[in-house]
Amino acid sequence: MVRPPADPAEVTGLPADVALVHAFVNSLDLREYRVHGKRMTPGDAWEGGPAALARWLDAHGLPAGEDPDAFERAVRLRAALRDSTRQTPPEEPAPLADLPLLVTVGVGAGPRLVSAAAGVDAALARILITAVDLSARGLWARLRMCLADDCQWIFYDRSRPGRGRWCSPQLCGNRFKIRAHREGRRDSLPT
Ligand SMILES: [Zn+2]
Repeated sequence: MVRPPADPAEVTGLPADVALVHAFVNSLDLREYRVHGKRMTPGDAWEGGPAALARWLDAHGLPAGEDPDAFERAVRLRAALRDSTRQTPPEEPAPLADLPLLVTVGVGAGPRLVSAAAGVDAALARILITAVDLSARGLWARLRMCLADDCQWIFYDRSRPGRGRWCSPQLCGNRFKIRAHREGRRDSLPT
């Protein structure tokens, strides 16, 4: 049986822009199911607050700094982006963080969305601009939150239809089927 990735950095083969937002949304890891008898430990890479976020941003080559207000914006941005990958949209999605963006128009280059912020906000704006760009290219919809409540890992669906339900059909899909079977449900979802 395949082990789930220990962290987003272990997921290989993603284009750089996808890898960046994939790492951002999965910096909150809620997985707590058992694999080979061992329960996974949920965790938040930013648990230490602004200092932990600064370390995370720096490790991902983004502008960093310790800024408590920007930390709140980072948490809101992550929640909003995570919500947008849910297979069942939440009734009240998290509000998107307030980030200053600018549109520049270069000769021959066309309009471009750029960050008008500095420090941590510049990093967050970069994440947001990348997400907007992926969305415009039809790729954001491929970032999907695993349907298993005890997983919620956001995976990049490389299948042709791009409608995968589970980060791992073998692990999360099977767990669902076993539970549905135990509960006598017949309406189990296809993997
Ligand atoms: Zn999963």
